[in-house]
Amino acid sequence: MLAMSIRTRFAPSPTGFIHLGNLRSALYPWAFARHNKGDFILRIEDTDLERSSQEAVDVIIEGMAWLGMDIDEGPIYQMQRIDRYREVIKQMLDSGLAYPCYMSEEELNRLRDQQMANKEKPRYNGFWRPEPGKVLPPAPSGVQPVIRFKNPIGGSVVWNDAVKGQIEISNDELDDLIIARPDGTPTYNFCVVVDDLDMNITHVIRGDDHVNNTPRQINIMKALGGIPPIYAHLPTVLNDSGEKMSKRNGAMSVRDYQKAGYLPEAILNYLARLGWSHGDAEIFTKEQFVHWFDLESLGRSPAQHNPEKLLWLNHQYIQNTDPAKLANLAKPFANQLGINTEIGPDFVQVVSLIKDRANTLVEIAEAAKLFYMPAPTFTPEQIAANIPSAIVPALKDLIEAIKSSPETKEAYSAAFKQVLAQHQLKMPALAMPVRYALFATTQTPAIDSVLVVLGKEEALNRLSKVVQ
Ligand code: GLU
Repeated sequence: MLAMSIRTRFAPSPTGFIHLGNLRSALYPWAFARHNKGDFILRIEDTDLERSSQEAVDVIIEGMAWLGMDIDEGPIYQMQRIDRYREVIKQMLDSGLAYPCYMSEEELNRLRDQQMANKEKPRYNGFWRPEPGKVLPPAPSGVQPVIRFKNPIGGSVVWNDAVKGQIEISNDELDDLIIARPDGTPTYNFCVVVDDLDMNITHVIRGDDHVNNTPRQINIMKALGGIPPIYAHLPTVLNDSGEKMSKRNGAMSVRDYQKAGYLPEAILNYLARLGWSHGDAEIFTKEQFVHWFDLESLGRSPAQHNPEKLLWLNHQYIQNTDPAKLANLAKPFANQLGINTEIGPDFVQVVSLIKDRANTLVEIAEAAKLFYMPAPTFTPEQIAANIPSAIVPALKDLIEAIKSSPETKEAYSAAFKQVLAQHQLKMPALAMPVRYALFATTQTPAIDSVLVVLGKEEALNRLSKVVQ
């Protein structure tokens, strides 16, 4: 048997807001192509000129690049293929697969009203459809016709959907689809078919809002002599309150996640699990995902967006990322908060100290701020209120112990223990004033580590000021 090269595509309509659900529709065809060493094509379905925008295309392309979905071919813009669609329409007219229909808007409306009154499903009645032995009226002059596809009569369209199983639609349900408008511009379903054929797409993996289009597309494809691809229709992604995801009800765009300090690896992992599973694996690399990905394990029911789970995953990825790499990623976020990471404590050390408690890069930057603010200055009243005079002797001893201590977490911890024992104090009684002296706050990471990161000299300077 000839090995067939797998070719998949992501075919977004760049009409406005791109949320995570949209990118999941890119992820699965991408993963399927990568798993099978095939090709992944990006096709931009931009024929709706009014609603499409370059801004939306940019968001899609950037988002995919950020998540590491590489593209083998494209972006291919449908608007640049209009001549090709016109060429196929002409071929279909010439070979009798399509025909001009002169029925006016008013006539169509009248037909629909009649059918509705008779409790019939509104559909085009084939008035202008040529048939052997049928005599058509002369074409009305000055009217630009639409072009309709001659849908097969009788029988049914059947396909074995990789997610939904076998689907069968009777041809009698389908009327003759308009493939070109009066001005000659091709219509949506027609362009999809020409593209999927020309691009040799073997697997169409897309949202299940397209199930209804599929029988029409299969019919046109077969008429053109093509072999329909395998279809896998993905259940939608709902938001956390179970509604369709949209900007209106608070969905965030890919760029928002980037700005909020999410790691692309975490988002990719999250999206992978939003409608697909591999045993009970929750955290996995992109490579594992590609290795495991199959159409059989796609979910059959709608997936629900769970922001807490995404945050949890992001936290896991932050925890497991090498501090130097994490510091690089967090730097722009820190800069945005006005932190100059080149002056003051080593940023990598700061990040490794705070990363375990952070869920996002933004949280890392916020926690890092503590170490880059100028040394606090205090009024005598502030000192009196926050450094109990009973603690001052212990603080003085601590300063001495730190002075003679090696600059390690363990040594500083030992210095604390020794002073605590000597003065019969509990840790908070000493640690709180120390924190206050260092940063004018009592909320900091573990004090021994803080001393290492801040540096002995700086720490001693700050501590000495409150015991004079
Ligand atoms: N452009 C369509 C959409 O964004 C997808 C078409 C397809 O995948 O066939 O919903």
